[in-house]
Amino acid sequence: MILQNWWFTTLLGTDDPIQPPLRKDIRADVLIIGAGAAGISAALHFVGKGLKVVVLERNILGGSTSGKSAGFLTPDSELELSQLIRRFGVDGARDLWSVPTKGIDRMRSTITGHGIDCDLQRQDSLFLGIGKSGWADIQDEMRARTALGFDQTLYDANALTKIIGSNGYSGAVRYAETYGVNALRYCQGAKKILVGNGIEVHEASEVLSIEDHCARTHLGSVTADQIIVCADKLDRSLTRFADNVYHAQTFLSISEPLNDRMVASIFPSDRFQCWDSTLVYSYFRLTGDNRILLGGGDMLSTFAKNDLDSPRIINRVIAGFKEKFPQLRDLEFIQYWPGRIDSTRDLLPTVLKDERAPWLHFVLGCVGLPWATFCGDFAARHAMNGGNEPDKHYYDYFRPDRGFFVPLWLERVLGKQIVFSLNNGWAKYYQKDVQNNARTRAIVSGRHAGMT
Ligand SMILES: Cc1cc2nc3c(=O)[nH]c(=O)nc-3n(C[C@H](O)[C@H](O)[C@H](O)COP(=O)(O)OP(=O)(O)OC[C@H]3O[C@@H](n4cnc5c(N)ncnc54)[C@H](O)[C@@H]3O)c2cc1C
Repeated sequence: MILQNWWFTTLLGTDDPIQPPLRKDIRADVLIIGAGAAGISAALHFVGKGLKVVVLERNILGGSTSGKSAGFLTPDSELELSQLIRRFGVDGARDLWSVPTKGIDRMRSTITGHGIDCDLQRQDSLFLGIGKSGWADIQDEMRARTALGFDQTLYDANALTKIIGSNGYSGAVRYAETYGVNALRYCQGAKKILVGNGIEVHEASEVLSIEDHCARTHLGSVTADQIIVCADKLDRSLTRFADNVYHAQTFLSISEPLNDRMVASIFPSDRFQCWDSTLVYSYFRLTGDNRILLGGGDMLSTFAKNDLDSPRIINRVIAGFKEKFPQLRDLEFIQYWPGRIDSTRDLLPTVLKDERAPWLHFVLGCVGLPWATFCGDFAARHAMNGGNEPDKHYYDYFRPDRGFFVPLWLERVLGKQIVFSLNNGWAKYYQKDVQNNARTRAIVSGRHAGMT
């Protein structure tokens, strides 16, 4: 098994030329810095609007987190629906769940509308319980989905064995309207749409400083009326908002292709995208050419500062998968790669317009392609419309100065890693914003009143 991102392998031989780095000083109406799912979505907003728009990306489009991801397009991210209900109540959870749902719609319509070749597949989601506590989690999720009036199916351990070839799970909840995608090919396909529509895209163009309206790279600069920053792993020298974000590490691997008999032995009826109920969960799905894409991590490495490149952790994930599916014990996994997902302290994104410099917009810490896709478009719409779009209340959920369980000054004493992991754990398992935070109560009740 070699250390190499499979999605990069799938780009070899395709016709996706790198866009040249920025080598001059230019003016633009809008500059977008960073082009993963969020920056691309922001840039797509400007197609056909007749504005001069420039995209600066330090890697290739999708070359960081988006292009390392497993490409599950589901509204579930680090925050499950039951956890959103605990935090925000039923109305708030519905309001927030529509963020990734709209993100999925947007990605899917871009892919199908422009015929992007990125292995888009309809794959129902299967959230799998492990052990007694996992079965309780599945039932919680079932109750949460029922409370919001969604469609889903509950499977106990026995019923589950009819749709998945394993005895290792205690139950599952299944739901539709979810997809699998090669996200790097999606980003590179989107690049063609942008370039084809006159948007100026520069890859290998890292922004080194932002001063006033001007962003500088090694060889050039862009001075723009509006600047939308959708960059990851931000350095504090670029913006003070870098402090809002840390990251969580996960690992992915890809197998050699399965034959039809092996596929039927794990998915006898439909192909699902699956993840389990453990704290550092494992996740898997089939690619269009029948390879198993399998991911996971472990407690110790999740909040590590830098990428860990050893195969030790993913080898344990693979061993655990093969225990659940002994029929695949001889299957080889051929490539693996690590990735750090930017996130905020409470796992919701931070999206803002800088009060000190209102032409500067930030989309930070989006956990999940659908969240990033919605938030990039949201920031672009509000940048051009003076913040007056009907969904402007999302700024309140995503503001940078929202309260966190462990106060930020403790980060100076205990370190960002420890305090972030405590805040993330609290947000996932205990936080109740709507009870404990007057501002959240006001957003949710105002929103609810507005909707009825
Ligand atoms: C292994 C792994 C598996 C995952 N699986 C899934 C999954 O199955 N489903 C899902 O929804 N999500 C998944 N995620 C999470 C998902 O990938 C991210 O949440 C999402 O891609 C974030 O998108 P983004 O646009 O906000 O960030 P990014 O994709 O990180 O984009 C930010 C961009 O900014 C660029 N940049 C940074 N600094 C600068 C600078 N100074 N100048 C110019 N450009 C800059 C970067 O190069 C990068 O391209 C996974 C992540 C990983 C690592």
